[in-house]
Amino acid sequence: MNIEFLRKQLTAGKVEIEVVANGATEVTDMKPKCHNRCPAPLVRRRSKQTYERKGSPVQVIIKNIPVTACSLCGDETMPLATFGKINEILLPFHGKHNQVPQLPPAEIIIDFAAATRTMRKAKG
Ligand SMILES: [Zn+2]
Repeated sequence: MNIEFLRKQLTAGKVEIEVVANGATEVTDMKPKCHNRCPAPLVRRRSKQTYERKGSPVQVIIKNIPVTACSLCGDETMPLATFGKINEILLPFHGKHNQVPQLPPAEIIIDFAAATRTMRKAKG
């Protein structure tokens, strides 16, 4: 990592250098950006995504997924926890590994919030 480059980034307010416990320097990008590195802020919004699995005739559409999106290019990211919940929602329809459930061709629309509420109830 070039020091001069870092200094410029610092003055531009783009990075913050954090000295961690062992004395090593770690560069943290304080402003999360989209994968395309657009000079635009991220916004929180609800997204609709379609999930398909090879070997499965079922197409699952999950709506109202809370995501963070780039206000410029629309690139969306979600926390790992949300991703885990989506996998949980998809499980009955798409199965896991090479065990795809034998289901008739279907298009299923699921509300993310409603589905996660149901899953919490099921767990007790
Ligand atoms: Zn972007």
